[in-house]
Amino acid sequence: MPHRITLIPGDGIGPELSQATRRVLEATGIVFEWEVQEAGEAVMSRYGTPLPDHVLESIRRNRVALKGPITTPVGKGFRSVNVALRQSLDLYANLRPCRSLPGVKTPFPDVDLVVVRENTEDLYAGVEHMVGEDAAESIKIITRKASQRIARFAFQYAIRNGRRRVTAVHKANIMKLSDGLFLESCRQVAAEFPQIEFDDRIVDNMCMQLVQKPGLYDVLLAPNLYGDIISDLCAGLIGGLGVAAGANLGDSSAVFEAVHGSAPKYAGQNLANPTALILSGVLMLEHLGEVQAAGRVKKALEAVLAEGKSVTFDLGGHAGTSEMADAIINML
Ligand code: NAD
Repeated sequence: MPHRITLIPGDGIGPELSQATRRVLEATGIVFEWEVQEAGEAVMSRYGTPLPDHVLESIRRNRVALKGPITTPVGKGFRSVNVALRQSLDLYANLRPCRSLPGVKTPFPDVDLVVVRENTEDLYAGVEHMVGEDAAESIKIITRKASQRIARFAFQYAIRNGRRRVTAVHKANIMKLSDGLFLESCRQVAAEFPQIEFDDRIVDNMCMQLVQKPGLYDVLLAPNLYGDIISDLCAGLIGGLGVAAGANLGDSSAVFEAVHGSAPKYAGQNLANPTALILSGVLMLEHLGEVQAAGRVKKALEAVLAEGKSVTFDLGGHAGTSEMADAIINML
């Protein structure tokens, strides 16, 4: 049976990375039926919204999507398609594994972290308004339900994947009610999983410790905004945004996408690194139960990275996006 997948190419560097990833995934011999759906600014004039209903319907029907990045206008314009997608489909868990890769030089050779980020609420929901002309108010909502749900996800993930420790990230010393509720919820859920070590760190201290001794940490459990920021920090530890993969998971559907955005300055130039989206594709294969194919893609990609000849500029190479994909396909 072919896997029917919604493919959202995205914009900026999205379409070229989606194309590269699609070719690599198809080279495994697994059969996919791609239902290509456009979202973002390009569809605004046609549908009056950057996230038309038929895109959501396609994901609900297929239950799995692979998505390229989508640009969000800064300080004006339409609401983030990425946030809307996560909220509409209740993709409450954002999973971002962050592991050192062979051949990718960084000052940190042995990073093996997983960021589990709450994906539906917090300041990141963008609920805000002007108060008169000279003040703006953003509303940070943290609920017990969403906090317990993401904490449970993190502990269950830890057990399923042989992880030993979960660290909650918060600022409950200052935001005693909202972050306090998040931390209290994590502590309550931690008590259900005595086999997994649990501790917590204040977010600023967490950032400092991550750049000094990332090897001390394992699974990081964070509310939406801190999770967003820490994910990019962790990507930096392993070689940059070009190599950091992710998944948005809910109870009924899943959307796989890289941590990075649409990097508009590199759009359409065959320059961007496809590794992050290909590794997101590996997470998708695992989710589909295609564990062997997932392992093969990962191995082929790691071999190309280790060889270092056919890698993109951000990894010190001269290959374009499509040439790097070709090298991975040859290795497969
Ligand atoms: P970005 O992640 O797009 O890029 C930041 C920098 O990281 C780039 O300039 C580039 O130097 C590097 N980079 C990122 N991806 C790379 C790749 N694959 N290969 C090589 N280098 C890469 O972040 P930004 O510039 O802050 O955001 C651009 C747009 O993307 C914004 O509109 C933002 O809202 C959007 N965005 C979308 C998503 C998403 O769709 N999930 C996520 C983050 C940002």
